[in-house]
Amino acid sequence: MSLGVNQAVENVLFRESVDKATHWGTHMARHIPDIEALVETGVPNDEQIDAINGIKELGDIFRFKLFTADGRLSLVSDDVSTAEYKGTSDVVDPEPERVARTGAAVVDVFDGTQKPNRPDLYAEAYVPLLDEAGQPLGVVEVYVDQTATARYFKDSFQTFGLMLMLFCGAIFILPSLAYYLQRMLAERSRKDAEFLARFDPLTGLMNRREFAVQAEAYVEQGNLSVACYLDLDHFKTINDTHGHAVGDAFLSHIASILQKNCRKEDLIARFGGDEFVIGFHRVSLEQAANRVRTILKSCAEQIDIDDASFAGTVSIGLAEIKPGSDVETILRNADTALYYAKSSGRNNFAIYGDEMGEELKERYKLESRIRQATEDRDFEIYFQPLVSSKDQQVTGHEALLRLSDGDGNFIPPAVFIPVAENLGLIDEIGAWTIHAAIQQVSKARHDKVLAINLSSIQFESGELVDTVRDALDAANFPAHQLELEITESLLLADSTFVEMQIDSLREMGVRIAMDDFGTGFSSLSYLWKYGFDRLKIDRSFVAALDENSERSREIIESVVMLGSRLKMKITAEGVETPEQSKFLSDLGCDTLQGYLYGRPAPLVAEDQHIEPVTSATLGKAG
Ligand code: C2E
Ligand code: CA
Ligand code: CA
Repeated sequence: MSLGVNQAVENVLFRESVDKATHWGTHMARHIPDIEALVETGVPNDEQIDAINGIKELGDIFRFKLFTADGRLSLVSDDVSTAEYKGTSDVVDPEPERVARTGAAVVDVFDGTQKPNRPDLYAEAYVPLLDEAGQPLGVVEVYVDQTATARYFKDSFQTFGLMLMLFCGAIFILPSLAYYLQRMLAERSRKDAEFLARFDPLTGLMNRREFAVQAEAYVEQGNLSVACYLDLDHFKTINDTHGHAVGDAFLSHIASILQKNCRKEDLIARFGGDEFVIGFHRVSLEQAANRVRTILKSCAEQIDIDDASFAGTVSIGLAEIKPGSDVETILRNADTALYYAKSSGRNNFAIYGDEMGEELKERYKLESRIRQATEDRDFEIYFQPLVSSKDQQVTGHEALLRLSDGDGNFIPPAVFIPVAENLGLIDEIGAWTIHAAIQQVSKARHDKVLAINLSSIQFESGELVDTVRDALDAANFPAHQLELEITESLLLADSTFVEMQIDSLREMGVRIAMDDFGTGFSSLSYLWKYGFDRLKIDRSFVAALDENSERSREIIESVVMLGSRLKMKITAEGVETPEQSKFLSDLGCDTLQGYLYGRPAPLVAEDQHIEPVTSATLGKAG
């Protein structure tokens, strides 16, 4: 190429590089947390490393160097890959120092064909990094790969047949050609930017704003019939367990399931995070529900991403469009229905109905009570005695959580615990219960068994074993006196992760009991595999002794036999009468629990005189 052409190419590349570097620098200043500190120290923390990894190869950028505003080198992106940081240098480099002082970018274009780790053609652009007030907080030297841009320039050049004209010396055309090409490139960036403003870059689905625009038009034309709000169940756990890359891939996977199950005239959007919305074009509610069923099924199928293999589920709320309703109302209704689907156990869908409004108010009230009680530690623990079937002596207590509704009544745990689980608060509440129950029992100088109920969800974070160990240590409470009660639902997942935690707890000396035995999906193989220390026969079987004594007797007998074969002790729950007590003792239950021996009540110190249970106290507690 002639000198003139080279000059023109360079002009375009210079301006382009400065543009890209400036954009990127702005992006960097916004996306790296506490960037001022990073510029000062030159040593990024974990959060900053994550952010750097997210942006360091964005667009045509392949490397960067960070300088302080007085021109000292603080960080090179290569160091982030090797995790070796030299810290901020003492030597002042005049180039970045000048850029910070004058605010004017400086750029050079280089031939990288002979250099290792460099693209064929690249630019090094120094641009000031500005804080929100527009003050320079440092300078970044951005390495921009310009190979493709230059090639594009050259190709366009040949296409237009301008080589010849240039050859003839029409030098004056060059600046305008350069200008034209630059406009083309700018147009391309503008289109990119426009895409990003309307669509979600991860899934390619429309974003919230674009959905609102298109749905508005659909409503006006009477084309929108059903809206769906879809939310991934426990997406945070997927992210935490498998990492964000797998989380992102899972979101894309869900997006493609939605695309497969919708027609091209349906609107599908990602509203950010793990929320998706569908606007169905002219379908009946029944048809929409059918599609949603298929979507639920596909989403719940096991998938393999990288080395991770898991099944994630979704919950969906549907709302039908009523005449005269607007997009906002439709979405709010679909969201309400989604909320219903979530609270009734996830991995399902609900259709919006007006009655949801009232129920929702009650539900909100309960939720805010639970949130506040969790924050203020405003729960109480009641203890119910466990007695030996041999001599009716108290051998321990079961801790049962109590939450008052503020009007002097207790909200039953069977009501508030599932809601706390849904709110994601059961870990915090459960950990508090473990600590508080152990503290109370050791303060009251009980040298007996303490049984504490666990929710299956407490096994998800992986923190349970530490929580239990810390609580035992803090109170100096012997591990063998602690019995943790789990339910059959925990074992359904059949995960090695749960198994490991149960093993660690048992290694510490803690005992594990299977609660509510017989009500769930008990399987012999679970009992065999986990080797529980105790089975608690659900009180429904004990209650049935009175009505259908022969049948209940048989069931209880076989459970006791099974337990003794597997070397497990047996507790019978819900013992209310002396007849039941005798019956169960004769059958071989070693521990009895029920109103006959005491209702759940606040703990009394061991050396205090304990009032015998009378009908008066019976009415109060429990
Ligand atoms: P559960 O583990 O089966 O606890 C025994 C329940 O039976 C308690 O109900 C107790 O008050 C009741 N009960 C005891 N003896 C008798 C009796 O003779 N007759 C009758 N009719 N009932 C009796 P409560 O306290 O309402 O607790 C209900 C459930 O809530 C518990 O059932 C347990 O699954 C759960 N729960 C309680 N506290 C906690 C906790 O701290 N964490 C977790 N995850 N769940 C808890
Ligand atoms: Ca229990
Ligand atoms: Ca039970």
